[in-house]
Amino acid sequence: MKKISLDHLRPPDRARLDALVGQVEQAVPILRERSVPLSPQERQVWQAVLHRFAQFGRAPTVGELSSGRTGLSPEVTHACLERLAAKDVIVLDERSGEILGAYPFSARPTRHRVSFDAQTVYAMCAVDALGIAVMLGREVRIESRCPLCGGAINVKADAEGITHLEPASAVVWLGEPRARATCCADWLCPEINFFCSDEHVNQWRLGQAEASGYTLMPLEALYLASRFFAGLLQRHPEEGGKI
Ligand SMILES: [Zn+2]
Repeated sequence: MKKISLDHLRPPDRARLDALVGQVEQAVPILRERSVPLSPQERQVWQAVLHRFAQFGRAPTVGELSSGRTGLSPEVTHACLERLAAKDVIVLDERSGEILGAYPFSARPTRHRVSFDAQTVYAMCAVDALGIAVMLGREVRIESRCPLCGGAINVKADAEGITHLEPASAVVWLGEPRARATCCADWLCPEINFFCSDEHVNQWRLGQAEASGYTLMPLEALYLASRFFAGLLQRHPEEGGKI
């Protein structure tokens, strides 16, 4: 198919999506960066986690994070990870302290498998899957499944547009973002999925107790992803240390 570029979004569509971005940011404090200040060390560890996820295709261990590049001890690294988890920047296993995720990446298998270069990773949700393309600035291949029928959905996207979509009718469902006490991965991410079609979203909603939200074209979901993930790895390079 011909690439559908973000340039195709008309100004009224962008305005509507920008309002939705504002709503998601209200519900997920970490997306409003200034409201969740990170210390230089926390930011350094967070950036290292994202870089390692992209590099290894899995979550790094505390040992991998503290050896070499960050120059931080395992104790300091562990304390930073706990503070990042408390701020919902990453997700930690409460018992083992292992990293379970760092948006957009998930260490646990999810419905959204994302491949780039020689790596395969899992994304927290459909928007995060597209966010990996935005964050890394390269084309990714997303394999997902429709929550209603289990049908395969294949998407290729880069930071500027959707380059492949199968089935062509595929859409993204975004559950109503509301502020909650628990981390985003537990309540919002499971509500953001690719579906085969608008019809399958509507059929699925009939079986849900709480099913308010938004049906987005994949390009619109990529626009949201670009608002959340563009420059995430490059932001505040002066605080990013040697990573
Ligand atoms: Zn389906």
